[in-house]
Amino acid sequence: MRFRANRPSWGDTVAFMPAAPSQSPAQTPAPPAASPTASPSVRPGPGYDTVPVTGWGRTAPTSAHLVRPRSYEETVAAVRECAVTGRRGGIARGLGRAYGDAAQNAGGAVLDMTGLDRIHAIDVAGGTVLCDAGVSLHRLMEVLLPLGWFVPVTPGTRYVTVGGAIGADIHGKNHHVAGSFSRHVRALELLTADGEVRIVEQGTELFDATAGGMGLTGVILTATIRLHRVETSLMTVDTERATDLDDLMARLTATDHRYRYSVAWIDLLARGAATGRSVLTRGDHAPLDALPRRTRRAPLAFRPGRLPAAPSFVPEGLLGRTTVGLFNELWYRKAPRSRTGEIQKLSTFFHPLDGVPHWNRVYGRGGFVQYQFVVGHGKEEALRRVVRRISERGCPSFLAVLKRFGDGDPGWLSFPMPGWTLALDIPANLPGLGPFLDELDGEVAAADGRVYLAKDSRLRPELLDAMYPRLADFRSLRARLDPEGVFRSDLSRRLSL
Ligand SMILES: Cc1cc2nc3c(=O)[nH]c(=O)nc-3n(C[C@H](O)[C@H](O)[C@H](O)COP(=O)(O)OP(=O)(O)OC[C@H]3O[C@@H](n4cnc5c(N)ncnc54)[C@H](O)[C@@H]3O)c2cc1C
Repeated sequence: MRFRANRPSWGDTVAFMPAAPSQSPAQTPAPPAASPTASPSVRPGPGYDTVPVTGWGRTAPTSAHLVRPRSYEETVAAVRECAVTGRRGGIARGLGRAYGDAAQNAGGAVLDMTGLDRIHAIDVAGGTVLCDAGVSLHRLMEVLLPLGWFVPVTPGTRYVTVGGAIGADIHGKNHHVAGSFSRHVRALELLTADGEVRIVEQGTELFDATAGGMGLTGVILTATIRLHRVETSLMTVDTERATDLDDLMARLTATDHRYRYSVAWIDLLARGAATGRSVLTRGDHAPLDALPRRTRRAPLAFRPGRLPAAPSFVPEGLLGRTTVGLFNELWYRKAPRSRTGEIQKLSTFFHPLDGVPHWNRVYGRGGFVQYQFVVGHGKEEALRRVVRRISERGCPSFLAVLKRFGDGDPGWLSFPMPGWTLALDIPANLPGLGPFLDELDGEVAAADGRVYLAKDSRLRPELLDAMYPRLADFRSLRARLDPEGVFRSDLSRRLSL
């Protein structure tokens, strides 16, 4: 088998970048507990090892055979192993930042792809990178920012892999102008169930099934990604408060187009007239002339800060309604009513939680559910109802964000649609949480909205067809491409994907 045949041709401007030794798990077998870039919920071991695996929310752990390929050939061998009759198939895994069960496979194989983490080529003039799917966005930022390029889309953490970014077709604060991650992927190499490697170009059926396909069309080995040009590694940020949900939606509708990045933190415990009060943060990459003189010497330096890791033991109930209510009150009040042109570090603006390794432990042993849904424009009443219900229910959520999406993306199971998306985290041990979220799912489905699969661990399968209209196409392509069901996950079994 030949790999990397028919790669895009690269002009004279190509720079070849070796993977940094510190990023190569092959050379640095640091235990994942010590490294925020390592998959936090899987204990790697040599060859085959059965280990408990969870998503970032640490709910619903299951055990799987963990395989950690270090070459394309080993990946092919691992997939062929998964295809042996009687086995429970396999699923690719990146850095395990999907909150639910998308990268788990009870009794089967989980292919930890972080061992394939080479950056093969960068077109410095044209702004394109060709890299392995196990490369993290953190690593891409380290390498690309000094060259004046930034990833086209980043989620709220940079500790995700390129494979995970395509598998979930992630969105960022710039969705309203740039769409989801896969829109910026020119082509990828996909290892399919028959053990063959296919070059999959944007605009093809297989590409659209793979973008957001949650690893179920095959293992992504490499991707060619278009980048975004930046002059500095800093951001100019405008902050303003919105007094309630309607005020927030009005501000987003009127002025979002002026900003490349936009998101609102929302206080879901506020009630009455204050329901949905928020802090709106919007910004763009700072141009060189916006920087204070002292930072102009190294305008593209990337130095994300790091705080001590979150404790591994947190008393149950610490994140109750009272504590979170207090936090939300302080957070809202400390935000300026209106401030413009603040210069912030890129990591502060995009990835504040990455500064606290293992922050997901603060929810204690029970873990937490991250609930994210979207409803279209014209369905604002459904959004108001859901926000009201959450605040009346007193869900102690301090990480709740609302964003206005732009156009939908071509991926058949891609999550975004033009409209409003709300994401919130809730301790999994909150009494009555399951039935409560089932009711919210009902509201979302009735409004022709959908729940985000990368965050899900509990959605009922009967709602899925209504939420994802291209689901039948996805299932039919899967049936043709992978008739034996080599690629399987806890998510795919639960939702019959
Ligand atoms: C703090 C935090 C903030 C977040 N913010 C956002 C956000 O703003 N927007 C957003 O969209 N998401 C967000 N997420 C979710 C996260 O971006 C996605 O779940 C992403 O898929 C995680 O990437 P990963 O490398 O950890 O993949 P994993 O979690 O390991 O896997 C996720 C999915 O991708 C598939 N996959 C992984 N690698 C491959 C591969 N090589 N080939 C094929 N399939 C593969 C897996 O099978 C699985 O289905 C956030 C998560 C966290 C923890």
